[in-house]
Amino acid sequence: MSSKPARNVGIPWIRPPAKSCEDPRCPWHGELPVRGRLLRATVVRLRATRMAVLERVYYHYRSKYMRYERRRSRIHAYVPPCIDVKEGDSVIVGEARPLAKSVAFVVLGKSGGAS
Ligand SMILES: [Zn+2]
Repeated sequence: MSSKPARNVGIPWIRPPAKSCEDPRCPWHGELPVRGRLLRATVVRLRATRMAVLERVYYHYRSKYMRYERRRSRIHAYVPPCIDVKEGDSVIVGEARPLAKSVAFVVLGKSGGAS
């Protein structure tokens, strides 16, 4: 693989991946702009090609009971070939343009360490 220098995606605290790729839909080595929301999520499924199902757990306040309930939501995200993820990994995803019917986020890197 050639070592094309990574683009500046505009999020300075995320380190670019060690590998390089030729994918035009890669935020680091292609043309894909990342803007909008930036989320941390856990990889729960990696069955589709270059796509991951991510799950996010958040707490929602229920005023009637004066306590929090645990809620989950799942999002689909594009995984560029230069980023290796496994099920169970915590990753940072950025919002991008719609890449497929249900995919509008892209994995930028793993969370943890420099985060
Ligand atoms: Zn790449």
